[in-house]
Order: sequence, then C-alpha cells, then structure tokens
Amino acid sequence: MSLFKGPMRQHIEGFKGLTNKKDVLEVQPGKEVCIPLVCGAVTNIDILVKEGDHVCIGTKIAQCNEGNVVPIYASVSGTVKGTKKLMHASLRPQEHLVIENDGKYEKIQSFEPVDYETADRESLIDFMMNAGIIGLGGAGFPSYVKYKFAKDVKMLIINAVECEPFITADYRTIQENVKEFRTGVLAMRKMAMAKEVSIAIKKTHQDLIDFVNEAFKNDEGVKAVGVPDVYPMGWERVLVRELLHKEYEKLPIEVGAIVNNAETAIAFGEALLYGQAITHRILTVSGHGVKEPQNVKVPVGVAASEVVAACGGYAFDEVKLIAGGPMMGKTIVNDQFVIDRNMNALTVLGNKPYDSISCLRCGQCSDHCPAGLQPVRIAQAVKTNDKSAMERLCAMDCIECGLCTYICPSRLDVTENVRKAKRQLAMAKK
Ligand code: SF4
Ligand code: SF4
Repeated sequence: MSLFKGPMRQHIEGFKGLTNKKDVLEVQPGKEVCIPLVCGAVTNIDILVKEGDHVCIGTKIAQCNEGNVVPIYASVSGTVKGTKKLMHASLRPQEHLVIENDGKYEKIQSFEPVDYETADRESLIDFMMNAGIIGLGGAGFPSYVKYKFAKDVKMLIINAVECEPFITADYRTIQENVKEFRTGVLAMRKMAMAKEVSIAIKKTHQDLIDFVNEAFKNDEGVKAVGVPDVYPMGWERVLVRELLHKEYEKLPIEVGAIVNNAETAIAFGEALLYGQAITHRILTVSGHGVKEPQNVKVPVGVAASEVVAACGGYAFDEVKLIAGGPMMGKTIVNDQFVIDRNMNALTVLGNKPYDSISCLRCGQCSDHCPAGLQPVRIAQAVKTNDKSAMERLCAMDCIECGLCTYICPSRLDVTENVRKAKRQLAMAKK
C-alpha cells in the first residue's frame, strides 16, 4: 500500500430519490432459473442434485468445499434440468444449475433455526457456515471466516452506507426487516465478542439513523453512527479509518474491527429465526435508462432481462447495463446474465457516446484515489506495457472504485486502464 493517501472525500450525486420511497417489488421468475455455481473466485463446486430431481425453495443443491465451505440453495421449486455455461456478472463464463420453475413456489426450511441468545459462539459460527451466509455487499466472501479468527475485536461495524449512486436496497431492507436485522447484528456481536457495534449510515439519512437507534434502544453498545456523504465511504478501509481512526495493512481485524454489510446481517437473522437460506436477493434496479426504477426482491438465478422487464423495461433503445452500481459495477454487453446472491444493484444508464481528450496531467485522479495510487501513471505503464512500473505503482491495490474515471476532466476511462494493469499483473503471476 502506498504511503500517500487520497482525501477519500468526494461527494457525488446520489439519485437516491428515484427508489428510496418505493416499496420493494417482488418479481417471480419465468420458466427457469439458472443458479451460478460460483463462490467468489472459486468455481470448484460439488453439485448435490441430478437431472430430473425435484427441488423446493431452500433445497441444498450444491456446495463449495475448496478453501471455505459455502452451500448453495434452490430459489424456486421445480425440476433440475442440468447445467449450462453462461456469462456471469463477474464477466467470466461460469457453470449454472438450471431449475425449471413449476410455478408452485413450494418452500422448505433449509435447516433448524437457532436461538442466538442460548447458543454458544462456536456453534453460531458453524451455523453461519452451514447456512451459506456470504458477504452480500458485493464481495461474496463467506462471512463465518471473519468470526472464526476473531480476536480482540473492539468494534463490529455494520456497513449500511450505500455510498454508490442510485443504490437504496439496504435503506429499504433494514426498515422492512428490522427484527431479522436486529437478530443478525446481535448474533454477530456475540460471535465477534465485541462490546461495541457501530451501524454506519450516511449522515444524510437521519431518518434511518433514528429508526435504527430506536430498534436497538435496549441493546447497550449498539448504535447507528452517521458518516459523511462522500465516496467511497462504504469501502471498509475508509469506514475503519472514520470510526476507529486507524489504518490496517490487509484486514480490519489487524486493528480490532470486523466489518459486515447490513443485508448480510439480515440474511443471517433470517437463517437464525426461520431456518431460511439465501434464496432471494433484494437489489436496486435504477438509473435513467430504466423506465420504473425500483428495489426488487428476486429469486437468485433469475435473468437480468426479466428483472428489467418487471421494472417497465428500458427507457432508450441503447443503454449501458451495469451489474452493480455505476462506480464499481461491471458493464455487461447484454442482459442474459442472472442475478447472483451478492449482487446489490442493476444500473441502467443512457449510452451516450462522448469524446475524450488527451490527459491534461492535472493530477486529479491521483489526488482523489482512495487507495493512494497514481492512476495516470499506471495508465501510462499499461500503454508502454511496463509491468515492473505497474508493480512499482502498486496497481494491485486498486479497489476499482471508479473515482479516477469519474473525476477525470478529459473523460478518460482511467479505471479501465488500472483494471488492465491488474489483469496483466495477475496473468504474469500465474
Ligand atoms: S479505481 Fe483504483 S486507481 Fe482509480 S481511484 Fe479507485 S482505487 Fe484509485
Ligand atoms: S484526471 Fe484525467 S486528465 Fe487529470 S491526470 Fe488523471 S488521467 Fe490525466
């Protein structure tokens, strides 16, 4: 990590009003769902069902055993039709398990519920592992691992910042699932053995801060904390700096913090209270390229095209479709990919071509990079294919926040160049 840190304080237009007052819309799938057989970067997944098997919502259908244990559950009832390879939202082709929807939506309890107040810490960690709770803020990393190695935790941080434009899924979900949220947060606190829990919410959402403080009023040590409305406030390194005034090298636990996303806490609460696995996902479908921006609840594995259609369809003939928010999401060339468990948004923008001009050497991308990088110099190294310069400039530390592209007055896609550098360094390492 570079010694030079950017200001990490860029306010960007939020457009949250497009969706934050609307109820969550439930979207049912069409004739099939295709459930991605992928856990983070791991694709070595054991399939536990075979073609022709009948499954219900909540049936365990696959499990990742490589490195960490992560089970995957069916999101509709119907018949297993086999596997097929599709483009995944990560921009890699991946195997998907196809389930033909029988339209009955039969549901089973995936596992026995557990009372977090009487269960001990170790059994809660095992429960979290077997329930398949992963980070729903984007990373998709199995959450139990953070707690398994927890030691001297000063603060559990629940991340409800939603610093990217358009996204309001956490804002709505917390208010509509407060019992599950509280259960998940208090169970996580027990697992972390943390006295203090800070639920980080943008200062501009005072209504949500008040709502959360009311929900936890009898839980000593748990409080909602307002954080600045700047980007990328939701990056865990920035959150830890804001709340604990500390820097870490690799993981927040080095400075006594565990960070989990608010929707992860809700999913954990649902698992504890009802024995319910992650079979559905609430995400924000927004942007000026979709007719009726909404927060939607969809089964995992439903096609993005069906979700956009449920939101009124595209507003223009040509749009830019992004899996995720407009800053950190990935632009995808068509809408045939499916919604995965860790996808918090679908952003649809107008696809106006614009002209970029040569770099002005203004240094703004370096001034604003939250990872303390010099994106313009990394982009230069990509042009000259100078891998040692890419390495020296710590390109791998880029978190792909998109701020360098956003800020660039020449309208250069600086982030894409830094991504290229990362890809080239990763390939060279392999
Ligand atoms: S995308 Fe990467 S290089 Fe650009 S500002 Fe964000 S962290 Fe820095
Ligand atoms: S912000 Fe754009 S114009 Fe300015 S130095 Fe960076 S790449 Fe060049």
